Amino acid sequence: MTVDRTDAAAPIVNALTIDVEDYFQVSAFAARIARDDWDRLPCRVERNVCTILELLAGAGTKATFFCLGWVAERYPGVVRRLADEGHEIASHGFAHQRATDQTPDEFLTDIARAKKLLEDVTGNPVQGYRAPSFSVGERNPWAFDCIARAGYRYSSSLYPIRHDHYGVPDAPRFAHEVKPGLLELPVATVRMLSANWPAGGGGYFRLLPYGVSRWALRRINNVDRRPAMFYFHPWEVDPDQPRIDGISAKTRFRHYLNLDRMRPRLARLLCDFQWGRVDRVFLHGAA
Ligand SMILES: [Zn+2]
Repeated sequence: MTVDRTDAAAPIVNALTIDVEDYFQVSAFAARIARDDWDRLPCRVERNVCTILELLAGAGTKATFFCLGWVAERYPGVVRRLADEGHEIASHGFAHQRATDQTPDEFLTDIARAKKLLEDVTGNPVQGYRAPSFSVGERNPWAFDCIARAGYRYSSSLYPIRHDHYGVPDAPRFAHEVKPGLLELPVATVRMLSANWPAGGGGYFRLLPYGVSRWALRRINNVDRRPAMFYFHPWEVDPDQPRIDGISAKTRFRHYLNLDRMRPRLARLLCDFQWGRVDRVFLHGAA
């Protein structure tokens, strides 16, 4: 008889992350909504972050919030509240431009500006960075140099899957050092049929039945014996957000599908697994 030693092991704490941006800032809308229009659109990020904070408080969970500099500049009180409630503040860059659409200098300027702004708002060092649309990969290996030069200790900018907008299907699935002193912490995937399948949130979490996500995350914890990196956005808990017209059927499907199911699903997710801040899950000896 074989003994499943994983049953006796302590439950693994996974990393829960939220990319703090508003509904009109998602990359899939970039061709439809000009950056100059952002200031004129009704913001919903504050109320949506409050909804998430209630969910997290109800479960006693702390998380990492990758905050967009643009949001932090306009709503510093939201960022301060997140920090005051014990969550980790990390950076999603300033202007939500894909790294692949920038020169190295532009990219470095954007991520350094966001880091300084977030540190000024909270008074705490910011250690983590996540690129918009997971836009770091084979096409821009210089990006990791920039992330290290800006002073970050970890990045969570790779999704090791095949996807039409992003993804590096052959990238390592788990935490690895990409530069001396800089860890890359990829979003969770499950290995099946010689391929990596998305298991770390985003549209897939709304598209697939909850049981599929639970199965995949359990597999990562119980078979791979690794913590999973999971992410979602404030606009995903907001079924009443203004609808953007003039977008493709595919984009509409991906953005608006099952928004009304997100809150109860997240509540189950928080119950079914152990969750924590990225720095406490992955940076040994961190606060
Ligand atoms: Zn984003």
